[in-house]
Amino acid sequence: MDSSAAGVSTNSGFARPLIAAALTAAIVFALALLGIHSRTAFDLASLWPANAALLGILAIYPKTNSALTWVLSALAYMAADLLSGGDLLRSAALNATNLVGVATGLALIRLWASRFFPMTRPSSVVRLSVVVLAASLACGIAGGFVAGPLLGLDRLEGFFLWTASEAVNYAIFLPLVMGGRLIKARKSALADEKDGSLAEKATAIAALAASCGLMPFVGGAGALVLYLPAFIWCSTLFSPRIALVLSGLAAMWVLFAVPVGLIPLYVDNVPLDSPWDLASFRMGIASLALGSLAMVMLNAFWQEAHDEIEHRANHDFLTGLLNRRQFNATAEASLVRQRDGTPNVALAVDVDHFKSINDTHGHPLGDHVLQVVAGLLTAGLRKGDILGRLGGEEFAIILPGAGIEEGTRVAERIREAIAAETLRHGEVAIATSVSIGLVEFQAPANLPRMLSLADEALYEAKNAGRNRVVAHKSAALLKAAGA
Ligand code: GH3
Ligand code: MG
Ligand code: MG
Repeated sequence: MDSSAAGVSTNSGFARPLIAAALTAAIVFALALLGIHSRTAFDLASLWPANAALLGILAIYPKTNSALTWVLSALAYMAADLLSGGDLLRSAALNATNLVGVATGLALIRLWASRFFPMTRPSSVVRLSVVVLAASLACGIAGGFVAGPLLGLDRLEGFFLWTASEAVNYAIFLPLVMGGRLIKARKSALADEKDGSLAEKATAIAALAASCGLMPFVGGAGALVLYLPAFIWCSTLFSPRIALVLSGLAAMWVLFAVPVGLIPLYVDNVPLDSPWDLASFRMGIASLALGSLAMVMLNAFWQEAHDEIEHRANHDFLTGLLNRRQFNATAEASLVRQRDGTPNVALAVDVDHFKSINDTHGHPLGDHVLQVVAGLLTAGLRKGDILGRLGGEEFAIILPGAGIEEGTRVAERIREAIAAETLRHGEVAIATSVSIGLVEFQAPANLPRMLSLADEALYEAKNAGRNRVVAHKSAALLKAAGA
């Protein structure tokens, strides 16, 4: 411990790969131990997350992929097996097959590299499934076909059982290990709050648990897929990560419950006693897990594309502000929530002599001025104020709950900030200013009418010489009339 800590400070070029390799091997060791113990506890149902974890780590942290990591991981597999009473030859054979599978999966991921990450297209689902199957097949050939006889297995049976066991483990655990890399991290759950109340989420989880719990009573081959409808429901309510954990748990429950006889596969309750039966069963669960994974990923892609399109539809491309349509919708929604008589201020903002900025310095610089102005407008407002670019160099603002005095203060502050900003274009300094018209109104009110009154005040500001704030002359009247 001491020496590695010293290594960090003196020679991080060497220490980092060492630490990465040691950490990876430690994870492999812990998961291999877990796998070995689950094998005894669950009888034939073997959970083996170590290979998927190693493949996932090597794939998402390419720097861990060093000879040292491979050697330490190989030792970790062996150590876990030997510590659990395995003999050396058997342990070496098992260990080698694990590494063959991981190497195959990693080779495919590296071969596809740029088309593999980021996983944002439906074809990514297929690629990931191919990685799972290729790694499993390679491990199955090495383990079942080549090393199988060493362990007393018929070659073909060994191959099929081995491949199926690897497939089910890769299908369940690889997506969990790859987590955020698999599906772009989203700030909230897959769906908005509006797409799933806490009560609905709890009900969906209860349905998933209930359908798993029903399997022993239903029995037969059909019992194995009983959890799918409830899982589909869950996948629409939870984030991709949580959905993957749920599908993993459901699949693990089936993997455990069938071999120990909790879910009778046949009417006469014959347990899974032949390797072919067990292999077929595990292959089926692997397919289910891959199907669930596809559903989660496709859902996430759809949601992401939807969010992107919605954002583009609601925002102005140049400044990122709300566009006219969304400004109106947001303002109307805010006003509708107000109690009658609540004061508001509408501001119309227009850049002065903008055409001449464009004409003198070119359109791209004009665009830049608009972006700077948009930034200063945003900076001058509070959370809850509504700002939009209505078109060209015209902006509108609603200050919910504000009266004319406060509105005038805000408008003056914004005007001063913009007038104080000097943009540099090479040697030339460009001064920018805005004129602002404002009007106070009280809920309930007609938004288009208020904006057109603010516009009238704006034209007064323009006529009075620009770079100024003018309140609509009917402000007092409006206040009295409550319109
Ligand atoms: P005033 O002080 O009276 O407002 O004069 P102005 O020059 O700002 O007003 P005018 O309406 O004559 O000109 C607005 C200009 O804004 C004309 C148009 O080419 C330009 N414009 C509109 N949209 C954009 C844009 O997205 N980018 C750039 N660079 N210019 C734009
Ligand atoms: Mg203008
Ligand atoms: Mg204008």
